Amino acid sequence: MEPPNNPNVQYFQNLIDGLITSRFKTENYNYNIRCSICWDDYIKGEPVTNMRCGHNFHMTCLSKWLSRKHTCPKCCKTLYPE
Ligand SMILES: [Zn+2]
Ligand SMILES: [Zn+2]
Repeated sequence: MEPPNNPNVQYFQNLIDGLITSRFKTENYNYNIRCSICWDDYIKGEPVTNMRCGHNFHMTCLSKWLSRKHTCPKCCKTLYPE
């Protein structure tokens, strides 16, 4: 038997898994045009993840960020539900 997972890790993983990721479309006006973590423009078809605050980032950039911090890189809003 493996030791149980740290409940906090599982909790955050569930929150991260609940974020909506979609492929960037140039005609999608709800999205920023670039990622505020790496400052690269989004390219059509790239996976982009939306935070609950409405900000969005490359899925890969955001998952690296969220492994260290549990806040939005742009507005610092926490991932925790209100
Ligand atoms: Zn990025
Ligand atoms: Zn934000």
